[in-house]
Amino acid sequence: MSFTFFIYFLTSGTLLFAQSTYPEAKLSKEDLFAHLSYLASDELMGRRTGQPGNDTAATYISQFFKTHGLQGMGDDGSFFQTISFEQTTIPREGKLTFDGHTYTQGDDMMILKGDPFDGKTQIVYAGHGLVDQENQIDDYAGVQAEGKIVVVLPGSPDAQDPLTISRLAPVKRKLAAERGAVAVIEIYRLGFPWSFFKQYFSRGGLELASGQDKDEFVSYGWIKEQSVGDLNSWIKTEEALSAAFEHSGARVDQLTSQNVIGLIEGTDPNLKNEYVILTGHYDHVGAGADGGGFYNEEDSIFNGARDNAMGTVAIMAAAKSISQQPTRRSVLVIALTGEEVGLLGSKYYVEHPVVPLDQSILNINTDGAGYNDTTVVSVIGHGRTGIDELIKDGANWAGLGIFPNPVPRQNLYDRSDNVSFAQKGVPAVNISPGITEFDDAIQYYYHQVTDEADTVSPSYLLQYAKSITRITRLIADSDKTPFWTEGDKYEEAGKKLYKLESE
Ligand SMILES: [Zn+2]
Repeated sequence: MSFTFFIYFLTSGTLLFAQSTYPEAKLSKEDLFAHLSYLASDELMGRRTGQPGNDTAATYISQFFKTHGLQGMGDDGSFFQTISFEQTTIPREGKLTFDGHTYTQGDDMMILKGDPFDGKTQIVYAGHGLVDQENQIDDYAGVQAEGKIVVVLPGSPDAQDPLTISRLAPVKRKLAAERGAVAVIEIYRLGFPWSFFKQYFSRGGLELASGQDKDEFVSYGWIKEQSVGDLNSWIKTEEALSAAFEHSGARVDQLTSQNVIGLIEGTDPNLKNEYVILTGHYDHVGAGADGGGFYNEEDSIFNGARDNAMGTVAIMAAAKSISQQPTRRSVLVIALTGEEVGLLGSKYYVEHPVVPLDQSILNINTDGAGYNDTTVVSVIGHGRTGIDELIKDGANWAGLGIFPNPVPRQNLYDRSDNVSFAQKGVPAVNISPGITEFDDAIQYYYHQVTDEADTVSPSYLLQYAKSITRITRLIADSDKTPFWTEGDKYEEAGKKLYKLESE
């Protein structure tokens, strides 16, 4: 037995000996850093979804996929899965008068959507504005909404968090539209200052194009009471009041962007029908006021080197290496768009998958705020999908350890694209550059103009890309099939997706 074999057995499967035989062992620091430098260059203007720099990045990635022999899985055999978006600019002006007070747009009213309106009508109250037959909820019972403005309470009776509110907003608008209402307006009673809310929504927003929805004309927005509970006495009477309402209308612009998707077919005649989905978002927040952070004349470009040019380079490295020596299972590599504007690229993908979701056994997502520990990769979702050992082995192979579930209070799992897959039941994990704490070292770069390529360590970039590649390979070659840990939030969704028996 040779010495190298001896080491191999000693390290019990971490494949020290075999390192040199895999293509990822030959990944070059210089090449990877060159990709990072281009993706995070000022030329790409922060890669904002729907803007030219975002398209340029997509083209760059697709050419890389093509060069390395991946199969195009986008529209018409290309690498691009084109997505239509709507960019909404809120009405400039508006006024609503009822119950002895005039609410003014931008001051104590924020109309966010809807066609221009100018007229006298009535205003009615309809609880939370929700209807749920299954649970016998009908906030519209006994309410005449036709031609009227409907005022509702924020969120649902159980939840008034930002996620619930934004999820329910289109539902409330649709329910109001179906009943012939002209507007649905939520009363601002939330646990954070109106000024933050106002500033956030003044910028309008980007959404997936809704197609031919019939509720587009209905006005939707918020009013802030003069003091908390002001409207309670009116609400209790359940009476319709007369109201005067006018606003200049929201503007909706159509934009497109794209997920970049390539496939490496597996080598095993049976297992190749199972897919490991490797994702990383290539979009970032853009430049100037779009960036959402501090900027000045000297530097106004949010380069997004860490977030998420690093992850993009890592999936490119994996695409190249696995294509050179494919795994038993197939690997689908997706550079996602639209993450920074609400995980929209992944939300679109899971509604329009290019390989069956119930044959997609795992999503490995790579995304992060930055790093403050170059001895590890951080594993967000550690302990949830049964593949922790393989993740550890992959990172170890690249000379790194793992840091499980960093900064739980930041709820990182639900803040990147892995959650779109998880919600459909596909086991998903987010692997991030080494973050142990959301400290100053992270915040100095996170969504700031300072997140430049030349502040990223080339050696750590190489180790990070090697880890992602190796982890993907180990899982795609493994006999183990990932699945949600018993009792996980997404276990039921997983059982439904894969048609497993629920006990
Ligand atoms: Zn990110």
